[in-house]
Amino acid sequence: MSQLPLRAQLASALGRTAATLSRATGRGDGSVIGGRVGLMLEPDLLRQLAADRRLALVSATNGKTTTTRLITSALRQLGEVATNAFGANMPAGHVSALSSAKEAPYAVLEVDEKYLPEVLDTTQAGVVCLMNLSRDQMDRAGEIWLLAQKWRRALAAQSTLVIANCDDPLVAWAATGSARVTWVSAGQRWREDSWCCPECGGPLDRKGVDWACRECAFRRPTPSWVLDGEDVIDPRGQRWRLDLQLPGQANRANAAIALATVAAFGLEPGHALLGLREVTSVAGRYTTVERDGRSLRLLLAKNPAGWLEAFDVADPSLPIILSVNAQGPDGRDTSWLWDIDYRILRGRPVLVTGERSRDLALRLYVAGVPFQLCESFGQAVAVLPPGRIDVIANYTAFQQIRTEFGRAE
Ligand SMILES: [Zn+2]
Repeated sequence: MSQLPLRAQLASALGRTAATLSRATGRGDGSVIGGRVGLMLEPDLLRQLAADRRLALVSATNGKTTTTRLITSALRQLGEVATNAFGANMPAGHVSALSSAKEAPYAVLEVDEKYLPEVLDTTQAGVVCLMNLSRDQMDRAGEIWLLAQKWRRALAAQSTLVIANCDDPLVAWAATGSARVTWVSAGQRWREDSWCCPECGGPLDRKGVDWACRECAFRRPTPSWVLDGEDVIDPRGQRWRLDLQLPGQANRANAAIALATVAAFGLEPGHALLGLREVTSVAGRYTTVERDGRSLRLLLAKNPAGWLEAFDVADPSLPIILSVNAQGPDGRDTSWLWDIDYRILRGRPVLVTGERSRDLALRLYVAGVPFQLCESFGQAVAVLPPGRIDVIANYTAFQQIRTEFGRAE
């Protein structure tokens, strides 16, 4: 790589010092504060750090942390990869990730949906992966459409290769702004935000994964990569068994996107899969923690689409603990809990905890799902007999459980 200008070198070094100090004083992993310090000293730092690297940006409502991890794990076979592994997915986090792996020829960055246009414009990334767009906490369909429109404009202004899920109409619409798209059929489980055509507002007709607008020419693009059950079919028609360690349909969808992405870097599926299969958990998700003879598997679900994915992974034969908070990162309004269909939980022991357990309890009561309300997570665990237990928690509830029961990884 070419040398960074002196000012950028200094900004980057001071940012790393700030991150080290932040870690040393117990204020988290320091990646955000370090990046902020760097950007304060050199506002152009992100662009300079991204230059001369082969960079992929990953954005979606759900699955971006996992997909970033899968792509990174595969690309490591080609060389060192800079990445924001801890989900610090705004520009300060990106500066920190790139700054701490300055010689890495590759970079894979998870990007917050709202920051994607800005980060793409700054970094001129060669590849952008887009998986899904749906309401997140208090967003509503209209706001999601506005976001898709911003993506579309940003992609139209660049020559970036876009790897996009053609089964999600909003993502497909955003990606058609770009002149270079590789379409992946990765499925779409949550459809409540895409009944209307993003182009004209008309109704979308759906049949299986296929969709088309009844009133204009906008329809599902033809994919070159297809997720088919446990397999991914590549553009040559060759079938690859995924055999991931990560569970569930949502992770197979993430893996299909990852395979198409690393192929753009010249990595064949046969090699890429070796990297994908090494990933066992992502920032604590899917981790199992042990307590008093109970094995608790932790599933993170931050929004309605995420809950559907977690239900898909949860074992119907096991008891389940649901924990919901409503702190800043969760969104204070819990009305999104009403968007989820909980009836799949009928027939298994359901325990409800978290700061907003009563909001969830009311929702379960209306859905006819029997449950037990618990004052704390520890109490919920103690109520259940020893054995395996699934846990679904939203963001801060998940972090609390990890802090109390698990270990950081
Ligand atoms: Zn239309």
